[in-house]
Amino acid sequence: MADLNQKLKQYAELIVKVGVNVQQGQEVFVNCAIDMAPLARLVAEQAYIAGASSVHVDWTDEALSRLKYEKAADEVFTSFPEWETAKRNSFVERGAAFVAIISPNPDLLKGIDPKRIGNYQKAAGQGLAEYRRAVQSDKVSWTVVAASSKEWAMRVFPGVSAEEAVDKLWDAIFASVRLTAGNPVAAWEEHNGSLHAKVEILNERRFRKLHYRAPGTDLTVELPDKHLWVGASSTSKDGVSFMANMPTEEVFTVPLREGVDGYVSSTKPLSYGGNIIDRFKLTFEKGRIVKVEAEEGQTILQQLVDTDEGSHYLGEVALVPHESPISQSNILFYNTLFDENASNHFAIGSGYAFNIEGGKTMSPEELAASGVNSSITHVDFMIGSAEMDIDGIMDDGTVFPIFRQGNWAV
Ligand code: ZN
Ligand code: ZN
Repeated sequence: MADLNQKLKQYAELIVKVGVNVQQGQEVFVNCAIDMAPLARLVAEQAYIAGASSVHVDWTDEALSRLKYEKAADEVFTSFPEWETAKRNSFVERGAAFVAIISPNPDLLKGIDPKRIGNYQKAAGQGLAEYRRAVQSDKVSWTVVAASSKEWAMRVFPGVSAEEAVDKLWDAIFASVRLTAGNPVAAWEEHNGSLHAKVEILNERRFRKLHYRAPGTDLTVELPDKHLWVGASSTSKDGVSFMANMPTEEVFTVPLREGVDGYVSSTKPLSYGGNIIDRFKLTFEKGRIVKVEAEEGQTILQQLVDTDEGSHYLGEVALVPHESPISQSNILFYNTLFDENASNHFAIGSGYAFNIEGGKTMSPEELAASGVNSSITHVDFMIGSAEMDIDGIMDDGTVFPIFRQGNWAV
């Protein structure tokens, strides 16, 4: 236990220094499940050491969330409390750093009416739209990190005791965020450098299109004129460098909203809104999803695609080598933060403003005119495998191999 506490302390330090990079006098907004309170407290301690003026923790309780889905009236799920919206927005206005500690139970909402879930996702999307815009345009510094909870750990490591599963998941989380390195902060600097090197190569090439080929996949993705590949650290409006996701292994950009054609098949289950969607295929015409086929979770997937008009289009194209450490661990986490970093992926829904030159200061209309999709949702799904080849196609038709057999070819 002493060892776990020591590791958690190091983890909290990494979250504060590399994750959000807390500045002197800055407020910190932490979102955390009550079961993970010890980690939230350590993050708060490290934040104060780093100079935070005040740390606010927004507690969530999965048991209460489930109870509400079971017992509350239908109409409760069609609106989002105004005070919740105001609270988030006021922290954004004051330039707070946002830390989301996730410890999701993939089966939390099993058996709940998908309509209730869909309605609530929609209402929350609308209620938090301004906050999400601030995050998606890097107005504030933010990070998403994970914590090992019992339910999640038992799903990831079935067949061992709950206690053992929790320990194993902690170990997997620590390994994925390079806490096993002698100097984790230095290890992140190096990792950041190597991802930025890929970003530079891709940005120099100015590919017009990407062509994906794998079993069950033949898809062409056009990129907007001013697309920007990004990866690893980001820079906030105030010039502070931060790591939006820990772990992160991806390099990504935005597709041209109406430039996606063909079909793509998932290669890992997608955990969405407390349900699993698995073995699915999406077909695109002029960017729009025209066919949804899933062996598991068809209804939920269809609802996700039908969230709004923008959820019929893609908002993110991300490259992750099949030999990334998380992929090599061969652990299926049932969680996007980890599984997306083990696999090439796309996102259904909104694109990030920072994936377009000058996008961070564009209005929603200007972003749309640049080809960036907008939606109240953004959900990554995994499509990479050891059998995936990706070509980059230039304006003059020249073809460059970007990925061969699941790994970088550039
Ligand atoms: Zn991604
Ligand atoms: Zn994403």
